[in-house]
Amino acid sequence: LVSRKRRAEDTVVEVKGVRIGNGHPIVVAGPCSVETREQMETVGQGLRAQGIVVMRGGAYKPRTSPYDFQGLGREGLVMLRETADKYGMVAVSEIVNPADIEMATQYVDIIQIGARNMQNFELLKAAGSVRTPVLLKRGLSATIEELLFAAEYIMSRGNDQIILCERGIRTYEKATRNTLDISAVPILKQESHLPVFVDISHSTGRKDIMIPVAKAALAAGADGIMVEVHPEPSVALSDAKQQINLEQFGQLMDALREAGYLP
Ligand code: PEP
Ligand code: MN
Repeated sequence: LVSRKRRAEDTVVEVKGVRIGNGHPIVVAGPCSVETREQMETVGQGLRAQGIVVMRGGAYKPRTSPYDFQGLGREGLVMLRETADKYGMVAVSEIVNPADIEMATQYVDIIQIGARNMQNFELLKAAGSVRTPVLLKRGLSATIEELLFAAEYIMSRGNDQIILCERGIRTYEKATRNTLDISAVPILKQESHLPVFVDISHSTGRKDIMIPVAKAALAAGADGIMVEVHPEPSVALSDAKQQINLEQFGQLMDALREAGYLP
């Protein structure tokens, strides 16, 4: 169902007037984790000033260590919803439990399935059974084919509003947190009719190469990029090293506009 062979035209994911996959790239931005109302207010205001229409913020955080901040859960979804509504944005947040999918549809406009859960088949089935669009991230060590089969799980249950997201894969290279598989973008666009995003934060794990990496993603044909933005990254409760502040986000947006990737 996700194959180009089944559908020649590009799928456009539409949510509250935001169109994803129609040839105009989208920038999804926001903090790694929802932390406080003040944090969400500051970042929401900053994103809106840059014309951002899709805001991210994690409430259920899949952390490597059980001792690290695990996210605010439902309370975090509420804060994200309030901020997105206040600034006229749509909200995307990761859900990790199949039992929470139905609940999440009340709070988010796009359900994110994270890299660690790309092959959580019960979660994929649950996401397939609702009509809320799904942002499906590539697994840490998943092949392109496995990503497409994961999307097939969702679509075969009846939900055809899916965005694929390349977020870097594991290799021996240590200079970046993961290795951005840039060729996955044109391959996914060729193999599938679904929109394709690139997460420039989790793929690189560093903030000093955001601009060229974002340009590379868009030059390769990505329908959007995702970037983590925090009012004060050094004190962020998760991914402090890779989140950029609002000023750096402004520089990224300026660079993408100057290069003609964004209007
Ligand atoms: C995220 O986007 O919040 C996240 C945890 O990313 P990933 O699943 O790609 O690691
Ligand atoms: Mn993160």
